Amino acid sequence: MSEISTVKLNNGVPIPQFGFGVFQIEPAQTADAVKTAFDAGYRHIDTAQMYRNEEGVGRAIADSGIPRDEIFVTTKLDNDLHGHAEALKAIEESLDRLGLDHVDLFLIHWPRPKEDRYVETWKAFEQILADGRSRAIGVSNFQSAHLERLAAESDIVPAVNQIELHPRFPQAELRAHHRGHAIATQAWSPLAQGGDLLADDRLTALAEKYGKTPAQIVLRWHIELGNIVFPKSVTPERIRENIEVFDFELAGDDVATIGELETGTRIGPDPDEFG
Ligand code: NAD
Repeated sequence: MSEISTVKLNNGVPIPQFGFGVFQIEPAQTADAVKTAFDAGYRHIDTAQMYRNEEGVGRAIADSGIPRDEIFVTTKLDNDLHGHAEALKAIEESLDRLGLDHVDLFLIHWPRPKEDRYVETWKAFEQILADGRSRAIGVSNFQSAHLERLAAESDIVPAVNQIELHPRFPQAELRAHHRGHAIATQAWSPLAQGGDLLADDRLTALAEKYGKTPAQIVLRWHIELGNIVFPKSVTPERIRENIEVFDFELAGDDVATIGELETGTRIGPDPDEFG
């Protein structure tokens, strides 16, 4: 396998640009899936309190024998646990479930702007960083306005914003905002959850041209945009297939062809409304 590229976060912490997402993996299946990912060379796992599978991730890490500092672990705050005291308690509970003394990245999962507590929550995250309970802190599903509000009312710029992003919904404006503020872009549902996108004729033609699969073409497109990705699968062949995207490059006009797949439609909820 060719080497996985690394992105340096705005506080200097390196993160593998490619990882394994465990959303919608059953708790009982999680340790096996993560083990398969480790065996295939993945060293970055993206979980969340709301996925209810942090224990399985922790078990796979403990059983792997891989040194802790070679694995990058992200988890995310449960939507019901916004607030200063709640977030401080929540990270301790995640660490217990994961069997770790720190995570590498802790994210606010959704801003829930109507509840209007994300600035208070972020101040707890600043403390979690200072306490060494997470090596970096960031947000997820934040719109530009939410990022601007954090910039105005807190001290630390999020290391990442993890957002829905795939060829159907490429988020050009928000990516430009991130670039202007040294925030790394993490793309969730990078394969648009594997639906009709991967059957599009333009993608299957590119797959044939490069001798790759449509999923690998889409994942390579993300890598070339600079996005950090962690596709999910429980199928061992697909887990191994997805990471094989570091041995080829897309030509510029092929990147443009993938840009034509944009429909402007989300899979997930609108962050201004959700929660
Ligand atoms: P994804 O785009 O990674 O799609 C996963 C699905 O695509 C699989 O269930 C499978 O059906 C299909 N698939 C995977 N590999 C394939 C292949 N090689 N060929 C054909 N089909 C394939 O979607 P996702 O799981 O929603 O997103 C990935 C990760 O992003 C999650 O596991 C999670 O870690 C994260 N995420 C975060 C948020 C958030 O709000 N922050 C929301 C959703 C997902």
